[in-house]
Amino acid sequence: MVRKISDILAEKELTYSFEFFPPKTEKGVEKLFEVAEAFKNLQPDWFTVTYGAGGSTRELTMELVDQFQKRFSVPTMHHFTCVGHSKAELAKVIEEMKRRNIRNILALRGDSPAGVEHWEPAPDGLEYSYQLVELIRTHGDFFSIGVAGFPEGHIDCPDKETDSSHLKMKIDAGSEFVITQLFFDNKDYFDYIKRVREVGVDVKIIPGILPITDYKKLIRFCEGCGATIPQRVHDIFQPIDGDEEATYKAGVEFVVEQCNGLLDGGAPGLHFYTLNKLEPVKEILNKVRR
Ligand SMILES: Cc1cc2nc3c(=O)[nH]c(=O)nc-3n(C[C@H](O)[C@H](O)[C@H](O)COP(=O)(O)OP(=O)(O)OC[C@H]3O[C@@H](n4cnc5c(N)ncnc54)[C@H](O)[C@@H]3O)c2cc1C
Repeated sequence: MVRKISDILAEKELTYSFEFFPPKTEKGVEKLFEVAEAFKNLQPDWFTVTYGAGGSTRELTMELVDQFQKRFSVPTMHHFTCVGHSKAELAKVIEEMKRRNIRNILALRGDSPAGVEHWEPAPDGLEYSYQLVELIRTHGDFFSIGVAGFPEGHIDCPDKETDSSHLKMKIDAGSEFVITQLFFDNKDYFDYIKRVREVGVDVKIIPGILPITDYKKLIRFCEGCGATIPQRVHDIFQPIDGDEEATYKAGVEFVVEQCNGLLDGGAPGLHFYTLNKLEPVKEILNKVRR
């Protein structure tokens, strides 16, 4: 029986989870199975697989989730977005997840496709992630549902207080835990915890961690998701930009310090954005795991 993340969170004080994205080529998929097998040796509490903006990688998400559960016996969470789906289509995909014994879903709104400035729901679709949570909850307790959280506030949200109230709506709709957007200043995370606790969000909020291995890619990644890069990060990584070895070493050092600060401050675990790469995560985890 595949375990629900809500049960794992109730049982364990600290959890360690790993996020993968579906590769675009068959060779990439083969490689990902090898990488995931190696990640299994790190005793993951669960894996997660992201959901693309459209096209064939969407079906691949479900296939990977299904296969990871079967091959590695690791509960695997299916990221799922409202983008481009009518409500009836969303309901159909959820039915298929149930048929395949996928029991953990990260319910997201998703973003507009590249080039489209403002978010618009699909015809007959859903506008916000809390509505997707409600739809998944029509299946009762079969699924454990997670949602996204934004320590700096969501990029489209006018202020942090409104952002907190929107998180509360997602929890009230039936989600059971939060995984955060990446961030580099732990103060953002701890301020966020305080802010959302004040409006009654009482579930575990797991920080999302990005290992730093490439300065230019980091900038691109953060432009896409709206995360702030503190001056300290520029100061460390800009002078060694292009030097792979030095960036890797400084990246591990920076993220180890970040993870220790989070766990010391009471974070309930760590969720790694692995970018399908084992090495930096393995090294960081070996240094911070408790
Ligand atoms: C851990 C994590 C994993 C992710 N994985 C994926 C992935 O696999 N695929 C992908 O495409 N994207 C992914 N994303 C990105 C995510 O889809 C985007 O950040 C998206 O912009 C917001 O999604 P959401 O679920 O938070 O949306 P929502 O919770 O719907 O919020 C979207 C915006 O609407 C506002 N809002 C919410 N409720 C209301 C309301 N009732 N009234 C008015 N405004 C409201 C919010 O404040 C926010 O500004 C991920 C993000 C995180 C943090």
